[in-house]
Amino acid sequence: MLPMAMTIEALAAQTAPAVLKNYIGGRWVDSAGSERLVVPNPATEEPLAHVPLSTGADVAAAAKAARAAAADWGEMPPPERAAYLFKLREVLLDNRDALTRLVSTENGKVYSDAAGEVRRGIEVVDFACGAPTLLMGQNLDQVSRGIDSEMVRFPVGVVAGITPFNFPFMVPMWMLPLAIACGNAFILKPSERTPLSSQRIVEICEEAGIPAGVVNLVHGAVETVTAIINEPEIDAISFVGSERVARIVYEGAAKAGKRVQALGGAKNHIIAMPDAVLEQSVPNIAESAFGNAGQRCLAGSVLTLVGDADKKLLPRLLDHVTSIKMGRGLDEGVGLGPVIRGEARDRVHRLVDEGIAAGGEMIRDGRGTGPSKGFFIGPTIVGINAASPLAREEVFGPVLSVFRAKDLDEALHLMATTNEYGNAASIYTASGGAAREFKRRATSGMLGVNIGVAAPMAFFPFSGRRKSFFGDLHATGRDGVEFYTTKKVITTRWF
Ligand code: NAD
Repeated sequence: MLPMAMTIEALAAQTAPAVLKNYIGGRWVDSAGSERLVVPNPATEEPLAHVPLSTGADVAAAAKAARAAAADWGEMPPPERAAYLFKLREVLLDNRDALTRLVSTENGKVYSDAAGEVRRGIEVVDFACGAPTLLMGQNLDQVSRGIDSEMVRFPVGVVAGITPFNFPFMVPMWMLPLAIACGNAFILKPSERTPLSSQRIVEICEEAGIPAGVVNLVHGAVETVTAIINEPEIDAISFVGSERVARIVYEGAAKAGKRVQALGGAKNHIIAMPDAVLEQSVPNIAESAFGNAGQRCLAGSVLTLVGDADKKLLPRLLDHVTSIKMGRGLDEGVGLGPVIRGEARDRVHRLVDEGIAAGGEMIRDGRGTGPSKGFFIGPTIVGINAASPLAREEVFGPVLSVFRAKDLDEALHLMATTNEYGNAASIYTASGGAAREFKRRATSGMLGVNIGVAAPMAFFPFSGRRKSFFGDLHATGRDGVEFYTTKKVITTRWF
């Protein structure tokens, strides 16, 4: 157990930033590696902690502990495992506000965004509490004369989860509750840029009495992930992060014979039709593009204004974003926090420059605005053409690129042809016919109708496609259960 739980009170009380520990086989242990990274508060640049870059030896120790724990845990009747998840849910709910403030502190997002993230993460535990029902198999009596067939589910064994910085609570929670509810032991490798929420999740698992070795935590970065891919005692990998790394993990894990699901980056389109209901659509579009500082895999990144939506919607959007206050996510009235690091801010600045150089029209430049300390970028809006790098590349900052199209057909064509991602897309319209056409032709897997962040709840699969997803079974929902279980089919005849 850490001397003090990883809360923001503990962070504030420390005289020097703590070096985080790994959690292996029910014990908090130092990493075998000597390299560490500082974890700054992105809104103030003050150091919050140091994160160790764990080695292959740390991963092997975690895998060994997980394998040992998986035997008993996998044998436990699902209703008994579900009882642990009910307890986990209770402790998480008791810590909801503290978790929200921790997410906001280490990631920079505003309190309301962090609260939404925590709520969405706990929803996966709600879903996983239904393990006895979710794990039921199937049978067919009399599949042939005198013969019956049944399909029974078993745990996969040891599962590793590798997560990104932008949802430091929710994304680990897409994986951990369902993986353990299905009878697996779990190893979490959180983002080295936001490791504190994961540290707290694992402390909470400990407080909820989850047996030693069932949940393990190994901090680190590239070397740690490479070790996970190559570790023979790890059977399956759930990955969420950028497209580049999703490919590396997908290919590496497949080569090593592991089951893998790898959720990648995004380039999400929003189509605004001339009949969009402006009063609700404008704040919703702004929230999609600039909420979480544009660092959502579901962020609206390209807005296609159809027909005279250009004249009606754009001026109101500009008015709306001018009122967004920038600052520390926990401060009153703040609507836009920083991006995660100075390098991320510089990359966004560079991409905007490239968009302008490629014939773009600067509609609103938010660069260089906001508090002087911290990694801030104000809402930025750029008119682009189909050849712009801003049409192709994931920006991952508060930048909205704007296309103009004469009709829905052209808007859908732009979505399908200018980028290769397929996470999310939204349409704003009052027309059922336009919405239906959009649902059928949009090239993304998560669609919103008059909803700018079309995040499915835990009961549904997180359905990215094209370059946004590598694998067969998505995270959460029934796909999650399928991913974390193996099947046996038994054919029986009695003489
Ligand atoms: P990232 O790919 O840089 O990092 C994700 C994880 O991979 C981290 O744990 C990191 O330590 C590890 N990693 C980084 N480089 C690696 C390498 N070369 N080899 C092996 N492992 C490596 O992603 P990020 O910047 O933390 O997160 C933002 C990205 O995640 C965005 O592209 C965003 O769209 C995406 N994302 C996708 C979804 C989704 O559901 N599709 C959800 C959230 C975030």
